[in-house]
Amino acid sequence: MEMRQLSEIAKRLRDSRSVLFITGAGISADSGLPTYRGIGGLYEQEETDEGIPIEAALSGAMFRRDPALTWKYIHQIESSCRDAGPNRAHHAIAELERRFERVWTLTQNVDGLHHAAGSRNIIDIHGDVHRLLCTRCGHRWRVGSYFGLDIPPSCPECASLVRPEVVLFGEMLPLDRSRVLQTELMRGFDAVFSIGTTSVFPYIAEPILDARRRGRLTVEINPGTSEVSHVVDYRLRMGAAAAMDAVVQALDRP
Ligand SMILES: [Zn+2]
Repeated sequence: MEMRQLSEIAKRLRDSRSVLFITGAGISADSGLPTYRGIGGLYEQEETDEGIPIEAALSGAMFRRDPALTWKYIHQIESSCRDAGPNRAHHAIAELERRFERVWTLTQNVDGLHHAAGSRNIIDIHGDVHRLLCTRCGHRWRVGSYFGLDIPPSCPECASLVRPEVVLFGEMLPLDRSRVLQTELMRGFDAVFSIGTTSVFPYIAEPILDARRRGRLTVEINPGTSEVSHVVDYRLRMGAAAAMDAVVQALDRP
């Protein structure tokens, strides 16, 4: 383990008041979730049973045409995270949210594990499979899991078609979350961590690039190489749980 890097990161964190954590499928890998491509990274097959690409099954266009088909795969994604709980990395982020003046978590994951760990300032830019929305009356609610839910579910208020509040392929990012992200990025962060994401989406890479331009602390936690590996101040080539544990320990060391 890179002890010198860790103590330097801790030293700079002690002088920080605001921290942004950017997380991707890699953070949930330590909870046993697969890090495949697809919505929230939770998909391994190239094609569905129906012989169409998974991107087509999980697209906004397919949901309008054949919502039951889209729901079938949304349900599979939810099933794969049903027994998973937050790991040390999710818990460490939630704990650091209480320690620093201003902490936000920008996540690509739709598994709701930051929420489960107790983080409050979450920008789940691709949504969360546990949040449901009626397509007709706008009724919104949150479920702990899909257990006991009819698939596709119908609205308890008006019996119309319900969708999960996730960004399907070909859909725009949710406006409310994009606005919060823009506002918080304008305020800036003293430190930005990129954890377990390849940063292929510009809105995931940009906060790191921006922090770098402003001379703020930038850290990447990723056993592999990503789009931002070459720009960060520090690279911890480790899994998310071990790395976040080490960061918290280094912060606690006098
Ligand atoms: Zn309704």
